Amino acid sequence: PKLVYDFTEGNKDMKELLGGKGANLAEMTNLGLPVPPGFTITAEACRVFLQTGSVPPELADEIDHHVDALQQKMGKKLGQADDPLLVSVRSGAAVSMPGMMETVLNVGLNDDSVNGLAHHSGNPRFAWDAYRRLIQMFGKTVLGMEGDVFEDAIEAAKKAKGTKNDLDLDADDLKKLVAQFKAAVHEHTGREFPQDPRAQMDLAIEAVFGSWNSERAILYRRQERIPADLGTAVNICSMVFGNLGMDSGTGVAFTRDPATGQRGVYGDYLQNAQGEDVVAGIRNTVPLADLEKIDKKSYDELMEIMAKLEGHYRDLCDIEFTIERGKLWMLQTRVGKRTAAAAFRIATSLVDEGVIDIDEALRRVKGAQLAQLMFPRFDSEAPKELLTKAIGASPGAASGKVVFTSAAAVEAADKGEKVILVRRETNPDDLHGMIAAQGILTSRGGKTSHAAVVARGMGKTCVCGAEDLDVDVAAGRIKVDGRTIEVGEVISIDGTTGEVFLGEVPVVPSPVVQYFEGSLAPEAGDELVAAVHRLITHADETRRLDVWTNADTADDAARARRFGAQGIGLCRTEHMFLGERREAVERLILAETEEECEAALAELEPLQRGDFLELLEAMDGLPVTIRLIDPPLHEFLPSMEDLAVKVALAKERGEDPGHDATLLAAVERLHEQNPMLGLRGVRLGLVIPGLFAMQVRAIASAAAELRKQGKDPRPEIMIPLVGAVQELQLARDEVEGVLNDVASSEGVEWKTPIGTMIELPRAAITADQIAEAAEFFSFGTNDLTQTTWGFSRDDVEGSFFSKYLEKGIFAVSPFESIDREGVGALVRLGAERGRSTRPELKLGICGEHGGDPDSIHFFHEVGLDYVSCSPFRIPVARLEAGRAAL
Ligand code: PEP
Ligand code: MG
Repeated sequence: PKLVYDFTEGNKDMKELLGGKGANLAEMTNLGLPVPPGFTITAEACRVFLQTGSVPPELADEIDHHVDALQQKMGKKLGQADDPLLVSVRSGAAVSMPGMMETVLNVGLNDDSVNGLAHHSGNPRFAWDAYRRLIQMFGKTVLGMEGDVFEDAIEAAKKAKGTKNDLDLDADDLKKLVAQFKAAVHEHTGREFPQDPRAQMDLAIEAVFGSWNSERAILYRRQERIPADLGTAVNICSMVFGNLGMDSGTGVAFTRDPATGQRGVYGDYLQNAQGEDVVAGIRNTVPLADLEKIDKKSYDELMEIMAKLEGHYRDLCDIEFTIERGKLWMLQTRVGKRTAAAAFRIATSLVDEGVIDIDEALRRVKGAQLAQLMFPRFDSEAPKELLTKAIGASPGAASGKVVFTSAAAVEAADKGEKVILVRRETNPDDLHGMIAAQGILTSRGGKTSHAAVVARGMGKTCVCGAEDLDVDVAAGRIKVDGRTIEVGEVISIDGTTGEVFLGEVPVVPSPVVQYFEGSLAPEAGDELVAAVHRLITHADETRRLDVWTNADTADDAARARRFGAQGIGLCRTEHMFLGERREAVERLILAETEEECEAALAELEPLQRGDFLELLEAMDGLPVTIRLIDPPLHEFLPSMEDLAVKVALAKERGEDPGHDATLLAAVERLHEQNPMLGLRGVRLGLVIPGLFAMQVRAIASAAAELRKQGKDPRPEIMIPLVGAVQELQLARDEVEGVLNDVASSEGVEWKTPIGTMIELPRAAITADQIAEAAEFFSFGTNDLTQTTWGFSRDDVEGSFFSKYLEKGIFAVSPFESIDREGVGALVRLGAERGRSTRPELKLGICGEHGGDPDSIHFFHEVGLDYVSCSPFRIPVARLEAGRAAL
């Protein structure tokens, strides 16, 4: 294959081969923009080098050929003693990896040609400085020397001169530095700095290839999920100089403000400098607008080019440029990175400007960006004191007094105080505390730990896995980094960055949430809100998937409805048994006779009925999928360890452990090695008489009452954890019986759909049979992932998942984003087989994946009818469902 492309031969669509930088240099060249001539060595050549340790044999000839052409075009040669051609050797991969790989500038200088450059430029200082830079970069990048060797020498030279400014070193000083640098090269590497320009070039190319596998590049790729085998292209570009005097300079420019998306002149300029000087921050840059006064001709040309580039790329571009003695040169451009807010505003502005259509605008914004815009943020201007940085598990910004228990959180919240609940980890018992707190901070667990999942579900800020924190709940304090934070002290947590700050950091609320809540009109003048409104409206018009919500309370349901939910896809009824109702559940579990059992159920029924009344009323006219109780019952009892200790202590003191002993016996009786695979879901309903019936009666009579009030309740009943149609059929018979009873005793008739969750592989595989007894399926992808992979959803995150991610077994946790090939294949199969039996079968998904952008695209593809997600993720799901349908 062809391994080298002249800038005139490539184009912007050849990123894979030429890298982003090379492809865009070629594109600009072909647009007739002033790009210094050059050529690109392909990433393919790099891949060969990385595999075999040497460049492909035919590369040398190809480079020769392109060097010849370049020399001809420039009218000068590499190393030419009176006026040398100099080139830069720059990395440039298909995916931008800022600052991760190497660059060598001024290749082509040697002991002879430095004099030619001095003479020809009329600026000896500049020439010696260029040579000094070459040896320094070459020494570090190609020869692997420590940067300090060079920097120390420069410092010493400045000190001897009594200055702090590089510019005060004159030609003689720099000449001496060059001699010192060359000596250092010899001393550290045992060889001379190469004088042959072509040898310099070849070595630099190999060094850039090799920098693909530098430690920092590897780390960066892993973090950004960039494949490890892409390799980098190398760009050989004739040098232009921004450091030839005050009529020269270098800068960066954006065609719009990358922070807000606003049109205007954005960028920085530095006179008499090269690109690295800007990065190094040696001298202060001036705003790009000032260039108009400094060099009007170049400024006007730059503005013209920027307009042309934006029109051509139809998007925000960022640009690096150099002015050499009043002549403007383009060194790089690309479609620029931008903030979430800018993404929305730019997309809609470009529609207004007639550059793109609204479909394209929708393609250009992402759910993850919308999610970012929905959280209140810490004021970036405010001063802050960082305590530690951990995992940002649920975005947002929260401040409050440190509390260590749920009870304390609830108590404080009742008094109107803001608190941060700090725990080593949370468990379902902490739910009330989590609701009461502004945010949750844990010292253990990852992004899918209990705290993280529940917090995301509630839209509550959460930072987890803060292992630097030594949380001593008993003593009521946290130790971190030699500092102690007592209960009641105020901290602030940033759920996006994972940062934990001391004290209160002021926040600014999100106007985007105010818009979704209905309290800020899209016409109110907030441009970001207007942009979000337009794009979400278009997404709604475009999408085929409906978006439902997971909600267990009327409040959540009402919020979800304001956010655009078209139904409830999952109401987890067990959440209604927490708090003080737990005791009634306890009595049910401990019941020894049928009468006791019935009494306990009779106690629960009116409470359930009340819950359903509120929920159905909040969702009046929309489907409400109510799942019958799912978790193993011992989850409602105290922990076996705690009870055992209590009972043992009582006995030791010679006291009667009483109720605790009874409880302990029950816990022991119910104990299972693998409760998630045990007595739960439909199995509970089939084994514990009256439990499902009680729930169904509560649902049906609540619905009947609302009907009588002229409302339109639409409950649907969902049976969890079904593996075989026989289970479902038995449960269904019981449910139907109760529904009929209630209908006749209340004297109202209506149809309540009965369906099931598909959350076991067997259910997906036998979905054709299961569909005989189900009017709808809802894929429970949390359990389906757990049972398909055999991963315990409660344990893996804090355990070996980080290793799995590191080893690239998967790029993202399968509990976060659907595993298309495995779990996803079962969803597809279940959908197909289910519909083969019952074409009108309604299909949804209610696992965590229902709010995950990537997964939503998958569920669109396999033809589900709706996704159901937590209220706060609904806008994201609407947007992504729209994007999936484009
Ligand atoms: C599921 O398993 O995906 C599901 C939604 O149910 P739960 O998370 O309550 O087990
Ligand atoms: Mg489940």
